[in-house]
Amino acid sequence: MLTNDQLDQWDRENFFHPSTHLAQHARGESPNRIITGASGSHIEDRDGTRLLDGFAGLYCVNVGYGRPEIAEAIAAQAKELAYYHSYAGHGTEASITLAKMVLDRAPDGMSKVYFGLGGSDANETNVKLIWYYNNILGRPEKKKIISRWRGYHGSGLMTGSLTGLELFHKKFDLPLAQVVHTEAPYYYRRPDAAMSEAQFTAHCVAELEALIEREGPDTIAAFIGEPVLGTGGIVPPPEGYWAAIQDVLNKHDILLVADEVVTGFGRTGSMFGSQHYGIKPDLITIAKGLTSAYAPLSGSIVGDKMWKVLEQGTDENGPIGHGWTYSAHPIGAAAGIANLELLDKLNLIDNAAKVGAHLNTKMAEALGDHVHVGEVRGEGMLCAVEFVKDRDSRTFFDADQKIGYQIAGELLKRGVIGRAMPQGDILGFAPPFCLTEAEAEEIAGKMAESVKAVF
Ligand code: PLP
Repeated sequence: MLTNDQLDQWDRENFFHPSTHLAQHARGESPNRIITGASGSHIEDRDGTRLLDGFAGLYCVNVGYGRPEIAEAIAAQAKELAYYHSYAGHGTEASITLAKMVLDRAPDGMSKVYFGLGGSDANETNVKLIWYYNNILGRPEKKKIISRWRGYHGSGLMTGSLTGLELFHKKFDLPLAQVVHTEAPYYYRRPDAAMSEAQFTAHCVAELEALIEREGPDTIAAFIGEPVLGTGGIVPPPEGYWAAIQDVLNKHDILLVADEVVTGFGRTGSMFGSQHYGIKPDLITIAKGLTSAYAPLSGSIVGDKMWKVLEQGTDENGPIGHGWTYSAHPIGAAAGIANLELLDKLNLIDNAAKVGAHLNTKMAEALGDHVHVGEVRGEGMLCAVEFVKDRDSRTFFDADQKIGYQIAGELLKRGVIGRAMPQGDILGFAPPFCLTEAEAEEIAGKMAESVKAVF
């Protein structure tokens, strides 16, 4: 067992943390929190502090921490067969079973699932499949991908480009040229306060159409979007948004990728966000909730239309040249099976819908009237509070005030984790689906105390 001092020292000397201020961490100016255990909706750090995890890790531990059913399934798989690859028709009972379970739950019109490791690589797979598809169809110029500002689709070269948040582009020479961004469906930040939701949807659609015309419809291959914008601020779409966007895409023969890394497997209160909002995607990205993060596993669910062309492509060109060593890793697949079984057995998606609604109601009651709260919004087990300097004009606080981080800090002192989203003064919540109503009330109550402490 390492002592606390050793842990501190080794951490700062050796460990390159993602999404971290590296210099401050190395100098010991920012806290390092070392997590030692967890159960249900709580985590515990090495000092014995117990925290209510209002963000389920990175909105991924959907069934909650410490589930023996998943741990045992992982151990049993590791003992029986820790690994075999899935190239050239190889597979394992776990990966084949999980593919069937995913397709059984997926929206209509989906055909196969390609397994990867995380959401970023699944979106990289999606873009490659889209390019392959258009090459097989003999339209090599149809390659650009439209994404939305504030979208988050990963941290790879292509997926970091698709991501529409400045932090993930800055000093990385992103976005790449094949990516173009369009308006975020962010009603609270509509360009004209007098716009109704329906008018704002029409505005987003007009912006998309103008972009497609500017670029040339024959150059646009696909549109990617999260059913509910996640890391960009937890923003449910405005009224009629997805149906209207889908009409435009169909008109120009543009594929639709629903990035369901956050929304997949229950977070909106429906199995998929696509079902929740009536979206008919050609590809669906899944990750986090597929295993509730008990093991890394992601997937690209491929719709019928694309699948037929992919098959045709291999008849013409031989095996598809795309594979990861760990595609469909059996330990990840075993975790996925146990996780999906648990979601069903404990009715956790119904609980996400019910307790998520309670969390949103209590948050709005606790904070809705505060002079610095612009909006409380959410869907299912997702909730966000947006802070503004002035409610009427929706003006931002100065960036260096870091209001979101200050409030997250106060909340942490009170034993609750909320996430200061990377752009704007927004505090996000995406707790595990096993959250109780009392825990939801605790989050809202402690938010009220924290806001009071900051203002
Ligand atoms: N897509 C969405 C919508 C996400 O929220 C994320 C991660 O938060 C990703 C993709 C990337 O997933 P990963 O971090 O597993 O690569």
